Amino acid sequence: MAKINILPSKVYNRIAAGEVVERPCSVVKELVENAIDAGATEIEIRIEKGGKQLIRVIDNGCGIERDDLHSAFLPHATSKIAKAEDLENILTLGFRGEAVASIASVSKMTITSKTKDGKCYRLSSDGGEIGQITEAAGEDGTDVAVEMLFFNAPVRLNFLKTDKHEETEITNFVSRFILNRQDIAFTYYADGKKVLQSFGGSEEEAIVSVYGAAILSDCYKIDAEKHGIRIRGYIGNQNFSKPNKSYQSLFLNGRYILNATVSAAISNAYSSYLMKRQYPFYVLHIDVPTEIVDVNVHPNKADVRFADNQIIYGCIYSVISSILDGQTKALDYIVRDKTEPITETPVKPEKTVETPKRPTSFGFATLTYEEAQKEIEACAPAFTAKKQGAIELPFEDVKKEPRKGFIPAEQIADYQFPTPQEVAEQKERKPQKKDAERLHKQFPDLFFERHALELKSSEQKKETAEEDAFAQNKRYLEELERKSKQNKIDVSACVYAGKLFNTYLMYERGDEVYIIDQHAAHERLIFNRLKEQMQNRAVARQPMLLLYTLRLNAFESAFIRERLQEIREIGFDIEESGETAFSITAIPVDLQSIDLSVFFNEILGDIGGYRAIKLVDILKDKLATAACKAAVKGGMDLTREEIDALFTLMDGDMGLKCPHGRPVVVKLTRTELEKMFKRIV
Ligand code: ADP
Ligand code: MG
Repeated sequence: MAKINILPSKVYNRIAAGEVVERPCSVVKELVENAIDAGATEIEIRIEKGGKQLIRVIDNGCGIERDDLHSAFLPHATSKIAKAEDLENILTLGFRGEAVASIASVSKMTITSKTKDGKCYRLSSDGGEIGQITEAAGEDGTDVAVEMLFFNAPVRLNFLKTDKHEETEITNFVSRFILNRQDIAFTYYADGKKVLQSFGGSEEEAIVSVYGAAILSDCYKIDAEKHGIRIRGYIGNQNFSKPNKSYQSLFLNGRYILNATVSAAISNAYSSYLMKRQYPFYVLHIDVPTEIVDVNVHPNKADVRFADNQIIYGCIYSVISSILDGQTKALDYIVRDKTEPITETPVKPEKTVETPKRPTSFGFATLTYEEAQKEIEACAPAFTAKKQGAIELPFEDVKKEPRKGFIPAEQIADYQFPTPQEVAEQKERKPQKKDAERLHKQFPDLFFERHALELKSSEQKKETAEEDAFAQNKRYLEELERKSKQNKIDVSACVYAGKLFNTYLMYERGDEVYIIDQHAAHERLIFNRLKEQMQNRAVARQPMLLLYTLRLNAFESAFIRERLQEIREIGFDIEESGETAFSITAIPVDLQSIDLSVFFNEILGDIGGYRAIKLVDILKDKLATAACKAAVKGGMDLTREEIDALFTLMDGDMGLKCPHGRPVVVKLTRTELEKMFKRIV
């Protein structure tokens, strides 16, 4: 065997370059990450010829000291970690100390850098041959120029795609940086033309600079915290989808990642709303404690490993699906649009105590219970005055100006104010549920943020969950109302107008006609019922004539054994019948037609990937199939009674979608018809 050689660093770097520097966009990524790690607030990126000719990243970060400039080019030179233990707690984007050395070895690289108190220095490398440090002119920060990438690695060069293609890849990377770091102002030029620019303001602004302003109205802004995991960002609504996954950005602890567990959780949450080959839009930031995630998986650091996939999957799935399914708790997760005008009294009565805006973890001002009470108390004189009609109120004619935290005069008029005695009593005791309820009823507008009734002190913490239920409930009702306004129609005004092709039922209402796909409608209604039963654990079981035996290997059996309870809860009677066998004696009535071996294979198919996938999610899919089978088909001749029954069940909800994401109802207006007949143009 040949003698073992310690590779010279130039050779080693070029091998490492294969891992870190695959193509121009990976260079952009590494350089921008270094700029971010250096604390830059402004980053300019310039590329030429898809980055093949030039990639230049200029930042206003901390800069590199003269003494460190040389070591920056050396492999495993990093200022970010010093010892092995630091790996447990990585907060910077870079930490391997590989990027600069690797890139330098396959290009002509020049770093010009100036620290705040130092002079500006420059050092170049030609294919890894490091030159001499010279003084240069430059601003605070670092300017890294990478020219002629892969000039000495012809094989790599051959693998590159066209300039335009490489440019698009880079644009994608820059977009992600903009979405990830809304606090940094990015400017990005390709061949001298400005392609993207953000200003380091808000999250909305970052999204708008990448996707355009229209996108926001199709999204929910969410901010949720569950089991120490925070999930925030924008997700597309049920009706908004994209034909591919390029509109999905996921950031974990500030790092762009691709992760199978997280994407499975998100796609499963959307599964009953989107058709096949439609993908949700999202820009999600997930923050988890550093100890439960391992980012040191691969040099390009795109994937991460979680200590417990199940928790991550569960949290993300439950947050997103509750929002899409319109569950009560969703209102806790949806951030109300800050720009939405809130109608409030423009002039505050004298006694009003101005509540200072306090930033919370959600970035909004909130009121504590006590503060909310104070606000109300402060408004008391105004109310009394108006009610008695004794005093002309000053604010009647004043132009209404939306302002948070004040109560509309009309509502004050009806408020039953507590007597002084009641107020005193109230101070004695802790806030009660009914107080919260009453406040909500009387002043829906006061509780404009989700934690309006949040109780802050530690001994009251336990009650928070309970109190939140009211804030939740309130928002839920609001949301329902908002939704129903959009999609719900008053069915009493609908007149049955016949059917087409034995499939489409028509209902006329004023100048509109609703065309309902009888199969899709029935399917959705059955699906909703099945899902509800499943969620309420009220599943009817159907005993099987013949016992079914499930034979598995040891690994699979362990997997099923851990989930026996869950499987039983969804309506299976299942028992262990040996080390590696299970017998099934009953199945959920609604899934009678299910092929048990296929069903269990699907569950077991996930064993390697995400052990976290909940059976309920697989079931959702099965339920959709069951619903589809059970539903009346298109072309099936329904009686008038059946048609009416179906329509009644729909309860005026014209926004329904079938479990596969297709619309149930299509609306046609008189105008549209008249246009077809050219009565109007
Ligand atoms: P890593 O980022 O993993 O530490 P790199 O090879 O990317 O390794 O960078 C090596 C070192 O060079 C960094 O640790 C940092 O000290 C310095 N450096 C690189 N780019 C910059 C920059 N834009 N501003 C300040 N320091 C930088
Ligand atoms: Mg780096």
